[in-house]
Amino acid sequence: MDEAPYQQALEFAQLAHHDQTRLSGEPFVSHPQAVAATLRDWGLDQTAIIAGLLHDTVEDGGATRDDLVKQFGEEVALIVDGVTKITGIHLTGSTEEQFVENLRKMILVMAADLRVVLVKLADRLHNMRTLQYLSPAKQIENARETLEIYAPLAERLGMGKVKGELEDLAFPYVYPDDYRWLKSYSAPYYKTAGKYMEKVRRDVHSAISSAGIKNALVSARSKHMYSLYRKLLRPENNRDITKIHDLMALRILVDTPEQCYIALGIIHKLYRPVPYLGVRDFIANPKPNGYRSIQTNVFGPEGHIAEVQIRTYAMHDQSEMGVAAHWHYSAAKSAGASDEKLEKGHVEVSDKLSWVKQLVSWQNEITDSQEYLTALKFDALQHRNLVFSPVGDVYDLPRGATPIDYAYAVHTKLGHQTGGAKVNGKLVPLNQPLHNGDVVEIIIDRKRTKPSHEWLGFVVTTTARHHISKALKN
Ligand code: MN
Repeated sequence: MDEAPYQQALEFAQLAHHDQTRLSGEPFVSHPQAVAATLRDWGLDQTAIIAGLLHDTVEDGGATRDDLVKQFGEEVALIVDGVTKITGIHLTGSTEEQFVENLRKMILVMAADLRVVLVKLADRLHNMRTLQYLSPAKQIENARETLEIYAPLAERLGMGKVKGELEDLAFPYVYPDDYRWLKSYSAPYYKTAGKYMEKVRRDVHSAISSAGIKNALVSARSKHMYSLYRKLLRPENNRDITKIHDLMALRILVDTPEQCYIALGIIHKLYRPVPYLGVRDFIANPKPNGYRSIQTNVFGPEGHIAEVQIRTYAMHDQSEMGVAAHWHYSAAKSAGASDEKLEKGHVEVSDKLSWVKQLVSWQNEITDSQEYLTALKFDALQHRNLVFSPVGDVYDLPRGATPIDYAYAVHTKLGHQTGGAKVNGKLVPLNQPLHNGDVVEIIIDRKRTKPSHEWLGFVVTTTARHHISKALKN
């Protein structure tokens, strides 16, 4: 990206946050800088990186949305709006039904521009990395929300690396006792597994090299703490770490899918596969989130079971970075990289809508798991708009709903006293239909006690129509 716009945004953020410090004592701007650096690491485009630098300037800093639009354009401002909206949707402490509803609303906000959720994930990642400075109550709240929402979200978007880090950062705060237990319980096993895996790594490396596969990378990875914890809690494992076969796993990265299958053959010639654990070919049958890899379990030296994962460098990138990797490859392509180069290792340059499909399939899954959310209700959602109050409360209104419908949805009294309305900060006529994602602010006219007859001509919700007619009759 160009450094000039980055510098301009940095100066804007510095100014907007000039009098603010983080609880760590650092200047506030260190936070958006860290967020922007993460987005840059993920290979996102300039608009997203700039939005990352500016994501708190309006909500928490001294800037206005107009300043933002003037200097950086509407696209950046829309991403910043989306991040603010998502931050305003509170998911913890709600009932299960509210939780599912709010989550769905959140998904729809993100669906407007995927970069919104990527900026939000980078924001949450930095906040989790600096969680030690918050009060204990806040630590637990944020850590729980991270485990319940943001880590699964990262997983659904195929961002395995981010998911793993978020979970491991949250784990000690949400389950402090179990965390301490697991840390000391697992330490000697990790150590033994590490030594063993180093032996396997050397053997495999020389077998792969002598088979003439160039450019292969063979390494050992250790299982994330939280993911080990979840696995130990399964009834069949019963907190017994000796039942876990992938505390350490061997990872083989090669250039092409063909080489993946050759490497699999080499491994099975070297070590016998474990019959009851089998081979899973997620290259031929990718997981719904796009994950691709071949996994096998073998009896290694001394008969210990070792898990081996084989994939191409491109698949590896995708499994670590998910949708962000798609972004990266699409950007590389539009920057003129040859198709041949991009397809090496069969990188599928995703069609821009694949993430929408992922989100929608996630929505479907949630619906399926919640019997009380009937299919009918889900269908109804397709024809509804979600609008926001200035403080981030979400209202679900039918298509064609106007600011008056919104006002009555919030409160009958607010409806009766509506004097005007602003949508996304601009004054609008009271009969203007609202759109998905609009932020609606009602201007109260304290002298008004009754609704207007005209309103009956354009309201679409039963609630509004009912309250208006009733007030007019009196
Ligand atoms: Mn932030």
